Amino acid sequence: MSTQVTQEAARRRTFAVISHPDAGKSTITEALALYGHAIQSAGAVHGKGDRKGVVSDWMSMEKDRGISITSAALQFEYRDCVVNLLDTPGHADFSEDTYRVLTAVDAAVMLLDAAKGMEPQTLKLFEVCRARRIPVITFINKWDRPAKDALELLEEVEERIGIKPTPVTWPVGIGGEFRGVVERIAIGGKKSEGMVRYERDSGGVTGAKMEVLGEDEAREQFGDEYARACEESELLGEVEADFDRTSFLSGDTTPTLFGAALVHFGVGQLMDLLVDIAPAPFAREDVEEKPRELDTGFSGFVFKSQANMNSSHRDQLAFVRVCSGKFDRGMQVTQAQSGKTMSTKYAQTMFGSSRGTAEDAWPGDIVGLVNATGLSVGDTIYEGSKVEFPPLPAFAPEHFGAVEMRDTSKAKRFRKGIAQLDAEGVVQVLYSERRGDGIPVLAAVGPLQFEVTLARLKDEFGVPAEINHLPYQLARLTDSDGAKKLMTAPGIEVFTRPRDGAYLVGLPNKYRIQTLLSDHPGIKLEALLAGG
Ligand code: GDP
Repeated sequence: MSTQVTQEAARRRTFAVISHPDAGKSTITEALALYGHAIQSAGAVHGKGDRKGVVSDWMSMEKDRGISITSAALQFEYRDCVVNLLDTPGHADFSEDTYRVLTAVDAAVMLLDAAKGMEPQTLKLFEVCRARRIPVITFINKWDRPAKDALELLEEVEERIGIKPTPVTWPVGIGGEFRGVVERIAIGGKKSEGMVRYERDSGGVTGAKMEVLGEDEAREQFGDEYARACEESELLGEVEADFDRTSFLSGDTTPTLFGAALVHFGVGQLMDLLVDIAPAPFAREDVEEKPRELDTGFSGFVFKSQANMNSSHRDQLAFVRVCSGKFDRGMQVTQAQSGKTMSTKYAQTMFGSSRGTAEDAWPGDIVGLVNATGLSVGDTIYEGSKVEFPPLPAFAPEHFGAVEMRDTSKAKRFRKGIAQLDAEGVVQVLYSERRGDGIPVLAAVGPLQFEVTLARLKDEFGVPAEINHLPYQLARLTDSDGAKKLMTAPGIEVFTRPRDGAYLVGLPNKYRIQTLLSDHPGIKLEALLAGG
């Protein structure tokens, strides 16, 4: 039976863009927002009511580095859908936050720079999508500039990630001589015969003008280039690279578009494609692998927790992805892990709107809860029948550092601070027998997490501390037997992770795994999610 909840859920599309820095993520985000007339944005934006003037060190840190630590969400209505675009910080110093955003989306757009193809950070983020079975649409960007050959790019994608690109548009003209695209399937309900012409000069807010040329016109204007595009497009059909929704949804193929975000070419097609083919929110499985039906009571989980570092007015913003039911601002919700109830009076979803507060939200939407100090990353909140979603995965760390306080008289506060930052998921906290529990080891996906940890220890807990970087670059999971056997092995270190009781082995490089395996046959050394 269709209820308002299932209807609202069915028209939601919640996704993120994954890319390597400089591929054009900010550019395409802006283009999508303009295209979709963004109606709301959620982020750690202050300046409403009594919060006016709160500018945290956090923000200045972002400003100084010109990067976004805050994962925000943009919401816009397009056709009859509501599109939620979650931001993944794209800086090279990215952290677990970047990965966690991908736990809150139903689809991803993989943005590639046409001259560079698959780059390292794209690959890492893609691995998270793969592990979480998130369908991926590929957008090959900057086709207005000299680029790799289109067919070679497809091969590269398939080779590097093992899923087949299925182009839905195909470029007319090589990179740098972009004439337009041939549409290989109906997009937005209509299939343009001939080609969609790209006009470089139109510029302006809406960017490139897209004009459809009939087959004869296309042939007349772009003779050889059009003929070649048609030929290649046909060839794609022969090698089974035609779009197929089932294999897209199962993560075995990636529908691919060509465009130039800077001039908004291909952006409208991307938006239409998202609405046409990306999955709407579906019943998420709880810890017992039982799906939480969309029309049961409200539920959601915290995928990001943003603390403000202003010492006089410390508050915390928890970003919640709505999984089921309707969220009403002011409703009482229960935190599944602790059983505590809390009010959601200060919910914010739409900082861009005039009111700055959310009145309601539906599955797929993102709600920001202000002053949600009791909420940690991974927590479930719900109303009505109880539900608890699985904890967020801990991602493979690539940076390790022992953290030592400068003033040992503050040991108690230090411990409290470390525990708090661990609970929030700012960084992974590990202990090793070698160092004892006075010197925790921090493990991170990106070194930025160390800086944030140190800054917050100092500002929020009054404990200046420093990091001694350790020479490990990857981690493997082991068990208690492995931990015992490897305890004294040279060049590595065995850690416990109190967050989930896991044993982690810090290793300098992949070769060390091989030597450990040959020294200790049968020992467990399991890769962690992403990277490692
Ligand atoms: P991000 O680091 O992925 O967010 O990348 P940006 O959006 O900041 O873009 C990086 C650079 O590439 C900027 O100078 C953009 O103007 C440029 N850029 C982005 N998209 C295009 C495009 O389609 N064509 C061209 N020529 N340049 C682009």
